[in-house]
Amino acid sequence: MKLLRHGLPGQEKPGALDSTGKARDLSLLIPDFTPEWLAPEKLNALAAIDLERMPLVPAGTRLGAPVAGIRQFVAIGLNYRKHAQEAGMEIPKEPVVFNKALTSIAGPNDDVTLPPGSEAGDWEIELAFVIGTVARQVTVGEALSHVAGYCLANDVSERDWQIKRGGQWGKGKSFDGFGPLGPWLVTTDEVPDPQAIPLELRVNGEVRQRSNTADMIFSIAQVVSHLSQFMTLLPGDVVITGTPEGVGLGMKPTPVFLRRGDVMTLDAGPLGTQTQRVI
Ligand code: ZN
Repeated sequence: MKLLRHGLPGQEKPGALDSTGKARDLSLLIPDFTPEWLAPEKLNALAAIDLERMPLVPAGTRLGAPVAGIRQFVAIGLNYRKHAQEAGMEIPKEPVVFNKALTSIAGPNDDVTLPPGSEAGDWEIELAFVIGTVARQVTVGEALSHVAGYCLANDVSERDWQIKRGGQWGKGKSFDGFGPLGPWLVTTDEVPDPQAIPLELRVNGEVRQRSNTADMIFSIAQVVSHLSQFMTLLPGDVVITGTPEGVGLGMKPTPVFLRRGDVMTLDAGPLGTQTQRVI
């Protein structure tokens, strides 16, 4: 299934794509895709709905992040070798973990607002996974059974805030709108191998990042297992899993950062696309 949420910010309703790719509204049946709806038995119930009989979502309706009531927004840093190199960092021996503010979560095509005075806004296309069942100290072998699905993410970053303002990376990655998610939560039955997802990001039509999750240092299963040794992962938790090379910070001879008016387009194959205007 491809689950989505449609409507104005804060008023999103649940929906899903039907077999022809049309968005259908499910708000007559369920209130919203809150974390309890990501349990396997609930997803099975959703899969039994005859989507063709549900109302169409009007074309052009805004999409929100595909999950409601997210309680943790965790990020993995430096999870692709070439990105670690372009960032001038060593290949990590264990996953680098940081958090993004929940208030940074946005719809997949919402405008990205650069903070006042920001001169170092940057892009990071990433694969996100969403937890379906509580994961606490799980093995790599059982890790993926705790994942409900996958979605596309942009880990928008303000590099000066991230690097020059002290503390950890969270300052540069938590501004409102710095966490676009979607367009859909694609359930795991439709993603047989999360290590085979193509990722491409363009700025104003020019390819900046083109890679594949096959190049990750730590796989999704390893990331789930690793995180669950240090924290309990709850249904609805979103984890973004690192970006490949090609960010603005790594451009030679000088870094290139986002300017107001730029347009970012992201494509993750079966996980769909995002388009964000920078304002
Ligand atoms: Zn990132």
